[in-house]
Amino acid sequence: RARYESGDHVAVYPANDSSLVNQIGEILGTDLDTIMSLNNLDEESNKKHPFPCPTSYRTALTFYLDITNPPRTNVLYELAQYATDSGEQERLRKMASSAPEGKALYLSWVVEARRNILAILQDMPSLRPPIDHLCELLPRLQARYYSIASSSKVHPNSIHICAVAVEYETKTGRLNKGVATNWLRSKVPKKNGTNSLVPMYVRKSQFRLPFKPSTPVIMIGPGTGIAPFIGFIQERAWLKQQGKEVGDTVLYYGCRHEHEDYLYREELARFQQEGVLSQLNVAFSRDQAEKVYVQHLLKKNKENIWKLVNEGNAHIYVCGDARNMARDVQNTFYEIVAEFGSMSQPQAVDYVKKLMTKGRYSLDVWS
Ligand SMILES: Cc1cc2nc3c(=O)[nH]c(=O)nc-3n(C[C@H](O)[C@H](O)[C@H](O)COP(=O)(O)OP(=O)(O)OC[C@H]3O[C@@H](n4cnc5c(N)ncnc54)[C@H](O)[C@@H]3O)c2cc1C
Repeated sequence: RARYESGDHVAVYPANDSSLVNQIGEILGTDLDTIMSLNNLDEESNKKHPFPCPTSYRTALTFYLDITNPPRTNVLYELAQYATDSGEQERLRKMASSAPEGKALYLSWVVEARRNILAILQDMPSLRPPIDHLCELLPRLQARYYSIASSSKVHPNSIHICAVAVEYETKTGRLNKGVATNWLRSKVPKKNGTNSLVPMYVRKSQFRLPFKPSTPVIMIGPGTGIAPFIGFIQERAWLKQQGKEVGDTVLYYGCRHEHEDYLYREELARFQQEGVLSQLNVAFSRDQAEKVYVQHLLKKNKENIWKLVNEGNAHIYVCGDARNMARDVQNTFYEIVAEFGSMSQPQAVDYVKKLMTKGRYSLDVWS
């Protein structure tokens, strides 16, 4: 049984793509199955090893080290000593320096070109650092968080997530893939019944449904921002089944095209039919000439929004991967509150701030 509440996050420990790991082994001429141990020389440190040791280079590069983010300047500085070509060595030193031209070069050649450690080794043929030092320099591979897209009342034995697989072409023509999303994509259980293991833990959050089910909720979540709201709606449906009085459940969702990326389309239609979802407002941003986003729909329904907030004591939730969206939505609330509450702009800002401190306006936003 998985212990979680709707609105919690799950942290997933991913693994790096084996082809990237193999290519690093090949380019450095390393037998990846060699066993090694990396020991912390700082005696004050309470950690004897930066990651579980002894281990193989393959395990370290697959599970413990970040090999996909563009390396930071301190890593380039340390690597420079191993470039036998003076031009490459100079370029690495320059990028690691605080001089404006060095910073600009680092920004364009590493950050904007999204060069990971393998791309740097490929594009600097004289740079062949010892693998031990590379393992020491690379940062730890981080867990990725996901907003749980299920209710434990309905799915006590499973945790659902909703994520977009990250994949993009870099300026150098390479195809970069997001570590966790592509790894998760390969974890679909096999037809022969073999399970896939995904190491994870649940992180409690403050993003919670109101204590009283009769309190209305306004949920605003474009794209994968819909994730926690699927859990919320499932939970409200379950509460209704238990005979509880459930308040208005209002969703503002957004995607690009109705026929392309409308997530949970069938589920949402069913929830609406069953009367669990009182309002389903969907903004299709690219289905017409002018872009339509969730905040435009909020404005369109401003009178109803104000009624739910002012008379119904509704709780407002905003979730998604765009910081701009959260800001635009908040500005829209200021406008609605100012207009219908007959308040000045500062008073409206204060009103929304109070909603936040009372736990009636909650954010779950990442970028
Ligand atoms: C609290 C919290 C909740 C979250 N909930 C969700 C959720 O419910 N669903 C969800 O999908 N994600 C969610 N995320 C984001 C998630 O944790 C991961 O960041 C995301 O899935 C990408 O992980 P990845 O390992 O696949 O990609 P990574 O390997 O981490 O690569 C992603 C990085 O690639 C770069 N990148 C991506 N696209 C491009 C591009 N076109 N051009 C250049 N660079 C690019 C960016 O720097 C980006 O940070 C959440 C994050 C937090 C902090």
